[in-house]
Amino acid sequence: GTSPVVVNNLNVPRPAEGQPTLLTLDEVTTLFHEFGHALHGLFATVTYPHFAGTNVFRDFVEFPSQVNEMWILWPEVLASYARHIDTDEPLPAEVTEKLHASSAFNQGFATSEYLAAAWIDQAWHSLGAEEAAAVTDVAGFEASALADIGLDNPLVPTRYSST
Ligand SMILES: [Zn+2]
Repeated sequence: GTSPVVVNNLNVPRPAEGQPTLLTLDEVTTLFHEFGHALHGLFATVTYPHFAGTNVFRDFVEFPSQVNEMWILWPEVLASYARHIDTDEPLPAEVTEKLHASSAFNQGFATSEYLAAAWIDQAWHSLGAEEAAAVTDVAGFEASALADIGLDNPLVPTRYSST
């Protein structure tokens, strides 16, 4: 019978004196994401706290927030919040189309850098402990692993490297 209390905080630049606070698309995305976490907590009715809100397993905790993000450009949702500050006009359709089109921008790079880093992790984990300890040329090991799958492109470095 205890109702949850959820607080969302969003850091946005303070507007000029007397001006309204306006959000960028990135800030709106963060707001929707974090509010998805809030809804997860607010709607949780469970016997065991482990299954509520942000206490769930890490591979599920981002699901409600990702679903909530999906609605940012949903026409009915967009029409309710994306309105011109002076005229109250909804976002023009051509702008909405450009926002949809831009969602795929740079995804080839982002996916490749992520996959390369994940592949390096897999390469390390495919070694036995003694094999891994015997690797002295870490950069060479990484380069070889990436070359094996064709992700050895110097223009797309891995998101992170071996420690
Ligand atoms: Zn999250």
